[in-house]
Amino acid sequence: MLAMLRKFVLAESPSLEKPPADRCCGIVASEWRKRRARVERMPQKQRGDHLRITWASQKARASGQLLVLGHYDTVYASGTLAKMPFRISGGKAYGPGTFDMKAGLVQALFALDALQQSKAALRKRIVFLWTSDEEIGSGSSRKLIESEARHSDAVFVLEPSFGPRGLLKTSRKGVGEAEIIVHGRASHAGLAPQEGVNAVHELARQITRVQEWNDLRRGVTVNADFVEGGTRTNVIAERARAVLDLRAMRTAALTAPRWNARSAPRFSPAQSHSRHKWVCAWENARPAAALTAISPPRSAFPRSMDWARSATVRTPRTNMSL
Ligand SMILES: [Zn+2]
Repeated sequence: MLAMLRKFVLAESPSLEKPPADRCCGIVASEWRKRRARVERMPQKQRGDHLRITWASQKARASGQLLVLGHYDTVYASGTLAKMPFRISGGKAYGPGTFDMKAGLVQALFALDALQQSKAALRKRIVFLWTSDEEIGSGSSRKLIESEARHSDAVFVLEPSFGPRGLLKTSRKGVGEAEIIVHGRASHAGLAPQEGVNAVHELARQITRVQEWNDLRRGVTVNADFVEGGTRTNVIAERARAVLDLRAMRTAALTAPRWNARSAPRFSPAQSHSRHKWVCAWENARPAAALTAISPPRSAFPRSMDWARSATVRTPRTNMSL
């Protein structure tokens, strides 16, 4: 398993870089092909290709489908391996994407090996779906995940465990992205400051405002993770931009009116006399409901953490929570 994990981790696969992601996709695909599983590679224009792999017992006719869901992309840019090489230390494996979630892909692969060796007559068809853009919101894979989940009797998501006790994750936050672009008016900061409208100042005000939308108790988080603006000192900044990361436990929290374009933040009153423009691209700010939709129904696990605990107890020898 370690050798396989190493192979997958050495194939760097940043969500935003198609060529390396595709290379990793090819390496993962070839392992499944070696096991005579049916591999469909779904070409994508901008992101890495997705993989849909089917395994069905030859002995019995499939009655229904199980979906095993995962992603092979990571948040680490190409070249990260040079600073963060794959290594084993203190009984743990390290390296970009090891934990989230190339180890999950390896587990699935060896689970298939075990199934093949046991010659179990599976009643259900198993579909393994490996996507390439989970870390950036599953934009190109969302439809695929949703439709595959609808055809499935159960979905196993191979995301890594939660926290130091290794609890099983039973749901994910929805994630969205929004962009704030402020257009101000450039002017000489020394000679004609009164004629300028500082876009950076305005963006700072709006970020402070948006920050107040954080509501940890309800599981809502808003973070300006990237900002840029201005050209040089001496020139009042004409343009500034922020990209926000939005997360929520429930879809309703992000479809509240204040997240809509119409109620997007307006310019601060102090600058409302000036001619400038506020662009707020909230259209991408919808949370990815795909994973919420396919997580186990709450009623099935009245107290999800208890369920995770009993799963841990049931597999003491492997020291895994499932
Ligand atoms: Zn993940």
